[in-house]
Amino acid sequence: MVNKKYWRLKYSFSIFETFYLLLILFFSLYGRFSDYILDFILKITQVRFWVIAIYLLLIYLIYYLLVFPFHFYEDFIWEHKFSLSNQGLLSWFKDEFKKGIIFYILSLILFEFFYFSLNFSYGWILVSFFWIIITIVLAKILPTLIIPLFFKYKKITDQSIYQMIMDLAQKMRIKILDIFEIDLSKMTLKANAGLAGLGKNKRVILADTLKDRYSPDEIKVILAHEFAHQKFSHLLKILFLEAIFITFNFYLIFKTVDFFLKKFNLKDIKDLSCLPLIFIYLIILEAIENPIKNFISRNFERNADRLAIKTTGLKDAFISLMEKLAQQNLSDTSPHPLIKIFFFNHPPIEERINLAKSLRDQG
Ligand SMILES: [Zn+2]
Repeated sequence: MVNKKYWRLKYSFSIFETFYLLLILFFSLYGRFSDYILDFILKITQVRFWVIAIYLLLIYLIYYLLVFPFHFYEDFIWEHKFSLSNQGLLSWFKDEFKKGIIFYILSLILFEFFYFSLNFSYGWILVSFFWIIITIVLAKILPTLIIPLFFKYKKITDQSIYQMIMDLAQKMRIKILDIFEIDLSKMTLKANAGLAGLGKNKRVILADTLKDRYSPDEIKVILAHEFAHQKFSHLLKILFLEAIFITFNFYLIFKTVDFFLKKFNLKDIKDLSCLPLIFIYLIILEAIENPIKNFISRNFERNADRLAIKTTGLKDAFISLMEKLAQQNLSDTSPHPLIKIFFFNHPPIEERINLAKSLRDQG
């Protein structure tokens, strides 16, 4: 099966990248590579803020170069090979650049604050609080700030779809500000739709790949699913869960880091050459916590599916939607249980279709 072949490389790459990154980080801790970079930076500036900024930039650049051949193969060549993307090379590089800048600025803010917090005895509370705030702000500004950097955003012009979505929102008692369409097709041929923003700023975002190829009923049921997330406050719950993990992670780091510093013959966590150790912590903790987050997310998705089908009564449209999405996105419809645990924050398509069928059987 072609899907399995596509995913085998995707999963392998993701696992490989994690270990590769850990290896680089351990290697740089042992080899004291950070010290060379830091010596070089300290010749330019002694100001702490700028030292952190340049240091982060340099280690990200080095990592990107080391991972580039694999990343390029997986994200450009492989996607084109399976006709999931028709993006040009230049446009791909532009998006890589934008993603890199955003990632850099974000992590710069986070790490500047991390190092600032180290000056206080309850630093883990301070840094957790700040990372949580950033996570919430990101969830809020993502649609309005970041999506337009990658896609053209325009108000939907099709009146019948506009009315259908507005009626559905009213029926489910969801307040939405407006309905937008983005040109997802320039980056990927995969389809998507979503509800973005928190509070009063909620907008419906339809990918052109979805709007142009799916029946009104299929679009209706996918939006009912998104509105169901809203009704159950899933995003808020996810953010709350994220906050718990962030706090736990920093508590753990602050309480145990001295032990590991000794193992690597490092002195003080405030030393920038210890940053690879913090990355190792974050990567390992993320790998442990992801299955828990995925498990909770899959439950939320099942609840949203159930409510979407119940509200619209469109079981058949839901099933055909799932089949179409699976085909268009080359989804792995029935992954190995271990793959599901680590990679799936949605139930596999086969399970989602079975859920719809079981609802139909109940009548
Ligand atoms: Zn969902």
